[in-house]
Amino acid sequence: MIRIEHLVKNYGSVCALDDVSFTVEAGEIVGLLGPNGAGKSTAMNILTGCLSSTSGKAMIDGVDILSDPLRAKKLIGYLPEQPPLYPDMTVWEYLNFCYDLKGCRLDREKHLREVCDTVRLGDVAGRLIRHLSKGYRQRVGIAQAMVGDPKVMIFDEPTVGLDPKQIIEVRNLIRGLGRAHTVVLSTHLLSEVQAVCDRIVIINKGRIVANEKTERIAAAVSGSRRFRAKICGPQAAVLQALQNMPGVARAEALAERDGDAGAYALETSEGLDVRKKLFYLLAERGWALVGLEATGVDLEDVFLSVVETSEQSGAKRAPRGARRTRRGKETAEETLGAALYEEADSRRKEAAAGKTDED
Ligand code: ADP
Repeated sequence: MIRIEHLVKNYGSVCALDDVSFTVEAGEIVGLLGPNGAGKSTAMNILTGCLSSTSGKAMIDGVDILSDPLRAKKLIGYLPEQPPLYPDMTVWEYLNFCYDLKGCRLDREKHLREVCDTVRLGDVAGRLIRHLSKGYRQRVGIAQAMVGDPKVMIFDEPTVGLDPKQIIEVRNLIRGLGRAHTVVLSTHLLSEVQAVCDRIVIINKGRIVANEKTERIAAAVSGSRRFRAKICGPQAAVLQALQNMPGVARAEALAERDGDAGAYALETSEGLDVRKKLFYLLAERGWALVGLEATGVDLEDVFLSVVETSEQSGAKRAPRGARRTRRGKETAEETLGAALYEEADSRRKEAAAGKTDED
């Protein structure tokens, strides 16, 4: 649905995008993630036809945004970081205005009612936009992007400045839109891409340093998978058996208990799935396996790994087997900027306190 090929954008001597290529399939939600100054807004602006590129192509559903911008723009709904709202209009007036501006041909009343219902604006349709809260204004911004029922939705930092409840609402909304649309969103928040996106494209200093399915990105970058197992059996013997299992790079006993079962963290080497082997091993020893879960993507590690490798190899894609090191952490902190690390740090603290985003 979206195809970006060898995109380069120079602002004078500043190279904001350096040979960027990626595709987004129909129905996918893709997160463009990177620190401030990475080139996200530049990519979004080119993708939406608001900015020309120095070279390269951006295609929306087969239409070249640079050579046929009017046709391509009809396929796109865009929510810029600052939603283009007119505070002196009511929500309903504004959506009608957007309808006219886009030259929409759908049944006006029915379509705009549907848009209002989807983003739950029905109750405030008659209110002046200036009297709405930030969360509601963001919903109006999303509604204007939906007018005309475009195939592609592009959101630039859609949850910046919202409170936690509004953030969850907007994320749910975007996930819902992803069922019928192709969505690209840019963010500098690790938790955002993890909560919303099917695939993550990480951009750093104008180059793509990772492009993977969300659930596979940790494995693809670090080469390992992580599991948490709850096992009934003598702790020292269980731990030794886990550590000796082929394909297990690391096993450790956790402080947590579940009845008479102890909890263990496992990390496999090179993306191996050891779950079946683990089941048979434990059955053989007579130790009951009462819980087994993949512990998911640790994006913090992914960032550190990706940036470390990209710094070393001139921002090329991180190879498999890359590992985080203390030196990598320092490089990453300098490169990715404080925001990512503040968030990663707060995620760690929340995890330690047993909290999640939705708390
Ligand atoms: P992001 O959205 O990831 O924060 P941007 O696309 O805004 O990144 O910026 C990428 C790089 O291009 C940065 O180094 C930024 O300073 C530079 N840049 C962006 N816009 C301009 C401009 N109009 N003129 C000169 N440099 C710019």
